[in-house]
Amino acid sequence: MIADPNIDYPERLALALLPTPLQPLDRLSAQFSGPRIWVKRDDLTDCALSGNKIRKLEFTLARALAQGSDTLITCGGVQSNHCRATAILGARLGLKVHLLLRDEELGDGQSIGLDGNLFLDYLAGAEISIYPKAEFQARQSELFEHWSQHYVSQGDKPYLIPTGASDGTGIWGYIRCVQELMGDFKQADIRPAHIIHATGSGGTQAGLSLGCALHQLDAQVLGIAVCDSAAYFQRKVMADISDWQSRYEIPALPASLSVQVNDDFIGPGYSKAGPEVFATIKKVAALEGLLLDPVYTGKAFHGMLTLIEQGYFAEANDIVFIHTGGLFGLFAQREQLSF
Ligand SMILES: *Cc1c(COP(=O)(O)O)cnc(C)c1O
Repeated sequence: MIADPNIDYPERLALALLPTPLQPLDRLSAQFSGPRIWVKRDDLTDCALSGNKIRKLEFTLARALAQGSDTLITCGGVQSNHCRATAILGARLGLKVHLLLRDEELGDGQSIGLDGNLFLDYLAGAEISIYPKAEFQARQSELFEHWSQHYVSQGDKPYLIPTGASDGTGIWGYIRCVQELMGDFKQADIRPAHIIHATGSGGTQAGLSLGCALHQLDAQVLGIAVCDSAAYFQRKVMADISDWQSRYEIPALPASLSVQVNDDFIGPGYSKAGPEVFATIKKVAALEGLLLDPVYTGKAFHGMLTLIEQGYFAEANDIVFIHTGGLFGLFAQREQLSF
């Protein structure tokens, strides 16, 4: 990738397998009278490390090491892809990792067992504390504080990573991804009008939206919310961007920055998907060999296909879906699919 002389990136660890491929989904596109659908395969950033969090953690972990940290503390849902990526990268770099996990219930007394991401967290040797959802939500900052002091008192140097590594440092990962996408588009000779992705903690959206403005890529980024409202994500994305401004002393934001979120496809709630999402997951797997998950990419992909049917992308020749990973979350919900 050619370095962009206009952007002064901070230090980064090269941890992901980059660049990821950009591929057309032609059998699927032919079933809709709409644009050609492309997919940026960020599910291929590595094997068990799969997904979007590695791009953010390349910058986050570089900062942690620069500060002399030897222990990573982060949090998420019990099937968090971000926590799994942190656990595996911690093992790769020889750092201690402590995960603070929020227990999720699927309803009907079903809960997610030792499967998927949680299984990999244990396998990678992470320290794991699981809290009931209500307690986790009420005490999150207190829990970070408690565990941080615990490690400090042992003589360790903890580094705290927020949910999804979405903060002023993590968002560099998707600012940089925009540069990679520009190379992909040039090679494929396309000018996609829209970039679509699942939004969960806002960092991917912050990086992509800001990245397009900084790199002057004329494509509209659309985040499809998997949990909270569009208004929530507008605030969260702008908070990450202002954290980025203050950490890196960026005086002004590019005038073309715009943040667009659709919250029509959340369904029953975070980590819960309706039957239409599972139907899309099955269809896309069988038709294109592309595997989506029920928590993020399946929901967002289903949203994108619905928007195509509604004519939302009618003016566009090409659109790009960012596949942000999440496969292990599908295994954890295998009971939701029947064959
Ligand atoms: C975390 C995650 C997202 C959402 O990214 P954010 O930056 O947290 O908004 C999307 N897809 C997958 C598979 C994820 O793990």
